[in-house]
Amino acid sequence: MTLERPDPATVFDEVTSWKVRSRSDCHVEYQCELLSYSGNGACDCPDFTMRFAKLLGQGITPEQALERKLVDNRPGYRRSDALRCWHLVNAFTEFEHHLITVFTNVKKKTGFEARD
Ligand SMILES: [Zn+2]
Repeated sequence: MTLERPDPATVFDEVTSWKVRSRSDCHVEYQCELLSYSGNGACDCPDFTMRFAKLLGQGITPEQALERKLVDNRPGYRRSDALRCWHLVNAFTEFEHHLITVFTNVKKKTGFEARD
């Protein structure tokens, strides 16, 4: 049995770079780069660039931003999402779904069982 191996560069671009549609204008898409700022991610929307990019550029972590009350603790958001706009939160959710699909396919092809 051989495991199909797609071009790593293609997969890398697909899973770490997402376009997410604006909530207020369905004709606008924002670019989310998940690896930026040490894995916090970056988005080119006004919300991210105006609220979060400056803090991240100063080396402030999501946990520090919450402790210092530099940002609000938004209901329904994980603490690790404190410096992420709505687009980034959704991009990371899509990223997680993608990884689960990949792992499930690998498990089917290899018979590998996850250990508890
Ligand atoms: Zn955004």
